[in-house]
Amino acid sequence: MTDEVPGAGEAVYPGEPWSRGVRRRDDGVVEVAGTDVRDVAAEHGTPAYVLDEADFRSRARAYRTAFETAFRTVGTDVDVYYAGKALLTVAVARWAREEGLRVDTASGGELALALRAGVPGAEIGLHGNNKSDAEIDQALRSGVGRIIVDSLVEVDRVAAAARARGVVAPVMVRVTTGVHAGGHEYISTAHEDQKFGLSIVAPAGQDSPATVALLDVVRRPELHLLGIHSHIGSQILDASGFEAAARAVLELRAALAARTGSLVDEVDIGGGYGIAYLPSDETLDPDRVAHDVAQAVAAVARDLGTPLPRFSIEPGRAIVGPAGMTLYTVGTVKPVTLEDGRVRTYVSVDGGMSDNIRPALYGARYHAELVGRSSAAEPVLARVVGKHCESGDIVVHEVLLPGDVRAGDLLAVPATGAYGRSMASNYNLIARPPVVAVAGGASRVLVRRESVDDLLALDLG
Ligand SMILES: *Cc1c(COP(=O)(O)O)cnc(C)c1O
Repeated sequence: MTDEVPGAGEAVYPGEPWSRGVRRRDDGVVEVAGTDVRDVAAEHGTPAYVLDEADFRSRARAYRTAFETAFRTVGTDVDVYYAGKALLTVAVARWAREEGLRVDTASGGELALALRAGVPGAEIGLHGNNKSDAEIDQALRSGVGRIIVDSLVEVDRVAAAARARGVVAPVMVRVTTGVHAGGHEYISTAHEDQKFGLSIVAPAGQDSPATVALLDVVRRPELHLLGIHSHIGSQILDASGFEAAARAVLELRAALAARTGSLVDEVDIGGGYGIAYLPSDETLDPDRVAHDVAQAVAAVARDLGTPLPRFSIEPGRAIVGPAGMTLYTVGTVKPVTLEDGRVRTYVSVDGGMSDNIRPALYGARYHAELVGRSSAAEPVLARVVGKHCESGDIVVHEVLLPGDVRAGDLLAVPATGAYGRSMASNYNLIARPPVVAVAGGASRVLVRRESVDDLLALDLG
């Protein structure tokens, strides 16, 4: 794919994992949405998270259109909730809404932000395995469309809060189906040793925790059972895990109806749609996964003899991850001779694990390129590291960079739009980078850079 940029010769889209607005000009300089990254760095400083607004919007639209089309084909409908925990700013929530998405939140803070962005309460969901009474009340006060309950204790808490407020709370019950997916593997286990949801597996002679919770919700006048929720994991690259989980949830829905006499209206199959982080990574095609899941649930519903519910999905990473990159400035370059005699070039940038914890937390792999100039130098085996006091402060584990990489070079790491800023910390009292949006040849700050004064202001001495 090529694009002609006036006065700059050929400008080429380098492909995933770069956002679709990225072009590398023949002078080696990279532009995002028509803006030279050197201008972004000069204007906003580095490190900076740079968000390609059009890319975000096109992925939001692609997911909505793909799932609406596939589910309408089998005779039902779907709502797409943007999982705000991936990255939530006022502008981002507005973009999601303008593209026809709703917003999922997982704390009082995320809920407050979505409301501030003008997302109507009815289009917001509240998640969390340990919501406080204050968060539950905030959700009821703002009329959220659904509270996803995660334990029996929480059924009680939400009911008490609804009673106190004199309202009926719309709830979904989050269940664990034994399907756990992520990356290429998914394992099916009868018992899930993790904190989320209620298991659908029934101990001998008893109801499953999921069934106990669902029946508990049904019999409480302060609660309205909207449906059943399942989220199986993250960075999933094929439809089989979603299909297996949806099958289990539809079976549970039918079994519940046999007890209560009515079928719940909705089923949420969660998020977790995978993206490319490296140029060699495969991606998940939304049309493909939507089609496969819709066909699978239609077949299950036929087997069970039940009509299909309305569905919802909750993609986060797949919408915002590829839209973002982090711009860094190189500070030091240090060749280190390894035991086997090879040389690894340690390239230190002006951020690190405080703006991207995923490599340290999950061993996540990223890609990096110099974006401010071209180089004809032979590539060297490099490791991009941050400026924090941890040897595990690695941004990119292994990447080939031009051998003349040097202080002052601009380096970009693609696919950092999701779980970068939202998981950022102030480790070493480093102020968190700004979120800068680029669109139509212009940049604007969505979230400003923190200052050391911001950090000092929190310390009351
Ligand atoms: C994290 C999460 C999501 C979003 O996951 P992605 O991998 O970003 O798509 C959706 N739903 C729930 C309940 C989650 O916890």
